[in-house]
Amino acid sequence: MTIDEAISHAREVAECQKMSARLIEDNAYIPESVDKEAITYGNTICAKEHEQLAEWLEELKQYRTIGTPEELKAAMKYVYLAKKNGTVGQVIENCVKYEEIGTPEECKAATEKQTAKKPDYEGDGYSDGHLVYDTWICPCCGKHYEVDYDDYDFCPACGQCIDWSDEE
Ligand SMILES: [Zn+2]
Repeated sequence: MTIDEAISHAREVAECQKMSARLIEDNAYIPESVDKEAITYGNTICAKEHEQLAEWLEELKQYRTIGTPEELKAAMKYVYLAKKNGTVGQVIENCVKYEEIGTPEECKAATEKQTAKKPDYEGDGYSDGHLVYDTWICPCCGKHYEVDYDDYDFCPACGQCIDWSDEE
């Protein structure tokens, strides 16, 4: 059953109950001694309740066109932001600024890369009994570079700041 069907059903029931009440009231064959009002009381209540039901369903239909409760809650967040910032335009401008800064994760990653880290070394072979380190490895992305040839302050691959302070 759709909401429109429910509305027309409620309206039909209400009309039906009202008609029943009228038929009893107008029935000349029911003796005067019978309390017609008492008999039609139930019909009248039932009709009123179904009319009320139809009204509520109409109201519900309107709410549904506005959005689900979740959507409305989300929309209220924007309303709150717009009030806080003055205008919706201001909210968008601020959002663009945040977008440029990046997500909190991106900020954290960027800050970490600016903090110099010591490279890892890899050696191959010995010279005079000492292991020769001819490769340094970016501590962030793991890219391999050649010692003495690739002297970068920042890893060209990921931007990690390299700490050369221990270099012999
Ligand atoms: Zn790197």
